[in-house]
Amino acid sequence: MTIFEALHKPGGVLVYGIPEFRLPKAIVEAEVDYLMKLGVKIETNTVIGRLKTVDELFAEGYHAVYIAVGAGAPVFMNIPGENLSGIYSANEYLTRSNLMKAYRFPEYDTPIVRGKQVVVIGGGNVAMDSVRTALRLGAEKATIIYRRTEVEMPARIEEVHHAREEGVQFQLLTNPVEYIGNKDGWVTGVRCQRMELGEPDESGRRRPVPVQGSEFVIPADTVVVAVGTMANPIVPATTPGLETNLRGYIVTKDASGRTSREGVYAGGDIVTGSATVILAMGAGRQAARAIHEYLSR
Ligand SMILES: Cc1cc2nc3c(=O)[nH]c(=O)nc-3n(C[C@H](O)[C@H](O)[C@H](O)COP(=O)(O)OP(=O)(O)OC[C@H]3O[C@@H](n4cnc5c(N)ncnc54)[C@H](O)[C@@H]3O)c2cc1C
Repeated sequence: MTIFEALHKPGGVLVYGIPEFRLPKAIVEAEVDYLMKLGVKIETNTVIGRLKTVDELFAEGYHAVYIAVGAGAPVFMNIPGENLSGIYSANEYLTRSNLMKAYRFPEYDTPIVRGKQVVVIGGGNVAMDSVRTALRLGAEKATIIYRRTEVEMPARIEEVHHAREEGVQFQLLTNPVEYIGNKDGWVTGVRCQRMELGEPDESGRRRPVPVQGSEFVIPADTVVVAVGTMANPIVPATTPGLETNLRGYIVTKDASGRTSREGVYAGGDIVTGSATVILAMGAGRQAARAIHEYLSR
């Protein structure tokens, strides 16, 4: 049994996304070591869909494949100035810090901008992890910009409390409309617009509506965009006959993770969209049972 992992370390978001102060990496390493003791082989630095495809895995002699590539593709705001230096996707920011240990640069090779005025856009757990990471990297002012109110924030309440306790500022009912930069191409601020809540949208949450003439600028030397992620597209795109929905997530037939392709199962964020560790683990267990039955026929 082999796990193929694109990065140089196994563990997924638990290693590259969730910071050490929330989930010590020694815990994840112990879990991975346990799998290896059970006989699981782990091949890192292997991007399935690039180095080899799912069909090539079958040709090599594997009888079943479980796809758990997550929903780690970054989403940006698509507003003017987004290419300025100092603007990160939350994925890149957290990966540099957590996986590549940029907070210990130059002892580790990967650098990270240690911004003094850091703005994080978004209201989910990823935004809270990013803003608290910014504080630990030495930010003097770390601000969350979120377009609704705290009531609608998708982050867990305790994450918001921890961020407040640590001194994070919250600019609520605020939406970025443009990044401002200096002549060297570095971000210097985020032009924002105040919002008010209107009628509920399809998610059931009240839709934020811009307040005319309310624009103002929040100074920033670093911006982290944490407004969501998308399905990782490489495996679905290189696996003919694998059904996906309109947003690129793999369609499964039932809770066992069976897909439209014989012998191919899928689970975790690549099926549900960004969700939780426990759901991804549960999906893996259910698929493991189903794959065992499939191989025992
Ligand atoms: C910053 C952050 C904080 C979070 N905090 C929490 C939390 O507190 N509690 C909670 O329950 N959930 C949290 N989540 C969500 C949770 O981490 C995810 O729901 C869960 O990790 C999904 O597991 P997964 O196995 O589906 O995908 P992932 O954990 O994303 O793992 C997918 C793995 O597949 C690899 N991969 C991708 N493409 C390929 C390819 N083509 N070939 C080979 N390998 C590939 C990736 O490198 C990655 O290692 C958080 C997410 C983030 C980003």
